[in-house]
Amino acid sequence: MKVPIEVSARHIHLSEKDMFSLFGSNYKLNIKKYLSQPGQFACEERVTIKGTKGEINGVIVLGPCRKKTQVEVSLTDCIKLGISGEIRESGNLKGTPGCVIKGPNEEILLESGVIVSKRHVHMNSNDAKLLGIKDGQIGKVKIKNKFRSLTFEDVVLRVDDNFSLSMHIDTDEANAVGYTKDLVGYLSI
Ligand SMILES: [Zn+2]
Repeated sequence: MKVPIEVSARHIHLSEKDMFSLFGSNYKLNIKKYLSQPGQFACEERVTIKGTKGEINGVIVLGPCRKKTQVEVSLTDCIKLGISGEIRESGNLKGTPGCVIKGPNEEILLESGVIVSKRHVHMNSNDAKLLGIKDGQIGKVKIKNKFRSLTFEDVVLRVDDNFSLSMHIDTDEANAVGYTKDLVGYLSI
């Protein structure tokens, strides 16, 4: 199955409580752009994340707010920050490292919630039926490129009727495959 490839740059999902601490009480996030997954959007707001070794400015906030704050970075970012890179599925935050987050209003300590997102494909149940797969199953995606063709294994297949078909990789993975906008992957089990 042909799958469009999208790159997730480092970003942060905020709980409402943390969002209010960082930006001020009763603050409302400003939508900059809707993303490919329905209801998800990039905000105008940016924060700084700090680890023991370094910090990264201009980390984009994605909305809407979630139950728990989650920071998604690359392994390269983890080296810069001095944070151990935990490759996790979104939402699986138990035992993950934390960081300091600085917003215009206040700086907060996030005890845990920094992850390197496990590569995954979003799809709806019709797509899943075509391949005969279930939510959470693992697949592989082959990407043909002029100089850096490769096959990503250990790809989590996430099925939900709110999803639209696309593979999400991080910036390290994008560089590994020499990402360009027109890249397409071929998903198999
Ligand atoms: Zn995703």
